[in-house]
Amino acid sequence: MKTDCARFYRTWPRITKNQGRQRVVYDGRMPFFQEPPRLGNQLVADALLNEYLDRKLSAEARRDAQEPLQEIGELTGGALYELQLRDRENVPKLTQWDAWGNRIDHIEVSPLWQLAARDAARLGIIAVAYEQRHGEQSRIDQFARAFLWNPSTDVYACPLAMTDGAARTLLDLKNQALIDRAVPRLTSRDPEQMWTSGQWMTERTGGSDVGLSETTAKRDGEQFLLYGTKWFTSATTAQMALTLARPEGNGPGGRGLALFYVELRDEQGRYNGLSVNRLKDKLGTKKVPTAELTLAGMRAVPVAGLSDGVRNISSMLNVTRTWNAVMSAAGMRRALALATDYAHRRTAFGALLIDKPLHRDTLAGLVAETEGAFLLAFRAVELLGKREARTASESDLHLLRVLTPIAKLTTGKQAVAVASEAMESCGGAGYVEDTGLPLLLRDAQVLPIWEGTTNVLSLDTLRALSAEQGAALKALEAELAHQLKDVRATELRTCTEAVMTSWQHAHSWLITQLASPVALEAGARRFALTLGRTLQLALLCGHAQWCLDHDRGARAVAAARQLLRHGIDLLPREQVDSDAARNADAQLLVPRQSTKAPLAT
Ligand SMILES: Cc1cc2nc3c(=O)[nH]c(=O)nc-3n(C[C@H](O)[C@H](O)[C@H](O)COP(=O)(O)OP(=O)(O)OC[C@H]3O[C@@H](n4cnc5c(N)ncnc54)[C@H](O)[C@@H]3O)c2cc1C
Repeated sequence: MKTDCARFYRTWPRITKNQGRQRVVYDGRMPFFQEPPRLGNQLVADALLNEYLDRKLSAEARRDAQEPLQEIGELTGGALYELQLRDRENVPKLTQWDAWGNRIDHIEVSPLWQLAARDAARLGIIAVAYEQRHGEQSRIDQFARAFLWNPSTDVYACPLAMTDGAARTLLDLKNQALIDRAVPRLTSRDPEQMWTSGQWMTERTGGSDVGLSETTAKRDGEQFLLYGTKWFTSATTAQMALTLARPEGNGPGGRGLALFYVELRDEQGRYNGLSVNRLKDKLGTKKVPTAELTLAGMRAVPVAGLSDGVRNISSMLNVTRTWNAVMSAAGMRRALALATDYAHRRTAFGALLIDKPLHRDTLAGLVAETEGAFLLAFRAVELLGKREARTASESDLHLLRVLTPIAKLTTGKQAVAVASEAMESCGGAGYVEDTGLPLLLRDAQVLPIWEGTTNVLSLDTLRALSAEQGAALKALEAELAHQLKDVRATELRTCTEAVMTSWQHAHSWLITQLASPVALEAGARRFALTLGRTLQLALLCGHAQWCLDHDRGARAVAAARQLLRHGIDLLPREQVDSDAARNADAQLLVPRQSTKAPLAT
């Protein structure tokens, strides 16, 4: 397989050193050409990733991970990055009919994605987590690979996240026949064998309020036939999907839905009762073939009974949300790498940008946000790994429940802000498509939307905290104490104090608002983001102390202090009269009535 991919890389039209910069000198008096930003080996270039792996992996796991990570780092800063730039204008194409009038609904993904599919298998980007060679640390190894690899694949992480989520869900729900059929394929290292999976939930009725789903399931012997429309399905080129439908006669809401397993094609390669209505024309994630589908008698197998579909798909969502958090950090890392390299090449007002105190401070802020996001996302990864290896304590499981939505929502917002700032850091060039920077911003913008929007996950955070007599709240408090327990460097004292002050503020805000459910709900986003940023600062403090103790320098100390300067507590200080505030907000939001009909397109 390696040979196959190596050949692919060799035969791809290469960017020569001068391509794009061939100097057609039309005016000898204007010889200046700006150097573009460059990437090197993305493993070698990433101080935090190396420190983190040294800190968290056993010597044996670290040794095993090094060679593949080194290869991925080399590819994503080199050949794969070049291919990504060359592939920029390729998007998936849907051909609905063949020349002879047959409905075929063939989707051709871009060459970069075809290669990514093969590399994902070869590099074990799903497999490593399921091979469990290093128990709970296997997840860290897997997500480190995904973190390095994804920024050069134009969001191939999307189908992979769903593939990983599907494998986890089938295993958790213990449907042995489906496990035997699908899991070895979903987790294969062989590009010829590996399957990907979709996650088909969202319908026209909604993606957040999925209990409204209208797809029905009619019994047909041992199987069911599904009828309905799936409104956003990103893995349409997958071999299988997990989806929700309401068995005939079931009641409303999420409880009345069941989780179904479907394969997209039959043994002859024909679609299984499925047609692709169109591909969505989106702001970003252009390589992802997000489709609208009609299911007209799609054969399906229930995964775990004929109800509680929303509860049953939760394993999938926990995995895809973890992917989302890690991919947010990965996108931020790429944006930062480009902006930092640019600052070392661009001169303005007599000096390199990197030597301008204000520009340096701007970039340092991006480093802090990126490192905070990385550590929070990987904390969710560590807990997921423990759960799967069955080494998690009760408290770890409560922490995982609440940390997953917090990590997803916090990092998603940071990813957009960092991509935007990185673009500005490259000035006008950053706004120009063929520098590759606009792509980062467009692709980041989906991260707070799919897999649960910021608001929806903020409310989920409240739900998680209120369950089981506040067990997750206690686990969160214990987590902050755990992260800070060894921190003793005086230069980190303001940060550790800020963590505790922010936590106490969030905690007392929560207790106060419990008496006023409307105010609690209205403030849920500020509350959840405060928890996310407070956790990030605590994790950065813990990491910074480890770096000081292991001769890794004070970089992480500086990152912690920068994050604090950016602010971690978003909750209001003053006691607000919630009724008065609600009335005032209502004034802001009076809709302007329009008598015109909506525009027809
Ligand atoms: C590129 C892309 C790919 C996608 N791929 C898939 C896929 O493969 N499979 C799939 O199933 N789905 C997919 N989705 C759909 C996505 O998961 C949903 O769009 C998302 O969950 C939001 O649902 P919605 O669009 O119905 O928005 P809505 O639920 O209508 O939300 C609209 C706004 O209202 C807010 N809101 C909603 N409820 C509340 C509340 N109770 N309180 C406060 N605010 C609230 C939301 O935060 C949001 O800002 C994809 C979406 C995109 C953009």
